[in-house]
Amino acid sequence: MFDLILRGAQLDGAEGLRDLGLKDGRIAAIEPHLAAAAPESQAHGLFLSPGLCDAHVHLDKACILDRCTLCEGTLAEAVRLTAAAKPGFTEEDVHARGRRVLEQAVLHGTQRMRSFVEVDPRAGLRSFAALLRLKAEFAWAIDLQICAFAQEGLTQEMATFDLLEEACRQGADMVGGCPYTDPDPARHVALIFDLAERHGMRADFHLDFDLDPGVTSLPEVLRQTTARGMQGQVSIGHATRLSALPPAELAQAAEALREAGVALTVLPATDLFLMGRGADRLVPRGVVPAHRLEGVAASLATNNVLNPFTPYGDASLMRMANLYANVAQAASAAEMARVYRMIAQDAAAAMGARAEIAVGAPADLVLFDAPSAEAALRQASPALAGWKAGRPSFRRPRGELLPPS
Ligand SMILES: [Zn+2]
Repeated sequence: MFDLILRGAQLDGAEGLRDLGLKDGRIAAIEPHLAAAAPESQAHGLFLSPGLCDAHVHLDKACILDRCTLCEGTLAEAVRLTAAAKPGFTEEDVHARGRRVLEQAVLHGTQRMRSFVEVDPRAGLRSFAALLRLKAEFAWAIDLQICAFAQEGLTQEMATFDLLEEACRQGADMVGGCPYTDPDPARHVALIFDLAERHGMRADFHLDFDLDPGVTSLPEVLRQTTARGMQGQVSIGHATRLSALPPAELAQAAEALREAGVALTVLPATDLFLMGRGADRLVPRGVVPAHRLEGVAASLATNNVLNPFTPYGDASLMRMANLYANVAQAASAAEMARVYRMIAQDAAAAMGARAEIAVGAPADLVLFDAPSAEAALRQASPALAGWKAGRPSFRRPRGELLPPS
């Protein structure tokens, strides 16, 4: 009757433990006790989450610290060093580095990821080709959404636009732009929207990556989203500028995001590293307190791993959410519940998907070494096992003390 029964799992918000019956890749039953006979796995009363969702990652430029010499730790330096390294990216090189990050992400419980991939005259379509391969090779463990991305401007180098168009034809899932590196940010935004509209795709923008409240591309993105009827199809990442706004203006910005149906992704590790470099004390965090923005579709994501934008990282979303909660001073049970949703349900929604544990839903499940979502988040608990479409996708042993006998 079932392919597998997962016994004794603690589900978010449920009183008591549940058994889950998995069949044909889906959750077929959720009961306090399933009396059927089938192969079994024990959850030991631990917290079972839907697979986590990382809505903003750059697999193509991950793990390149060994080719870069960091001096300033600024955004300008990160863009410059990465641009200099990019002509050396071969398809095999990007594939090997992307695989390293995907393997870590899977082991940390991530089952859905949006990766940007730069296509421009320096990278050509080599990185993109590597990501297409990774998407197919890792489909058993993670759903990879590929966002063809213009990191280094567009209007001053229209060859990038043609490459984006080609990537859309060759299997990109969506397109992304970065108006802050473009001499004409408004036209950059319009061109990305043109591509998204023409190919029926979502769009994602790296936006307002500074702490200057006077400079913003946000109104233009919101205006175009509404004008083109793309509510619910557009995301923005960073928007660190929002962290510099007084509360009343932040509330206005939140209202505008909500009305336009634009999702916000916060990237704590990168924002903390690159922002506030002008300060010699009381360094501003530069992290948007997105969990406080009522009704805004907000998520937390990894962004970069071991490169000049973020010279740290292990692709663990639970660790990232723990970092965010600490920095954003989120602590109450309600706040922790919201922060957890920002790496699970709300992050999935921002990617046009669902993350849920319900009868009929895909059996995409991760077991954490904690009794609840809140405890897993407070302690950055490790993931112990995962099932993707009902099939075991990873497991790692629990830590074990070895006292002298
Ligand atoms: Zn990014």
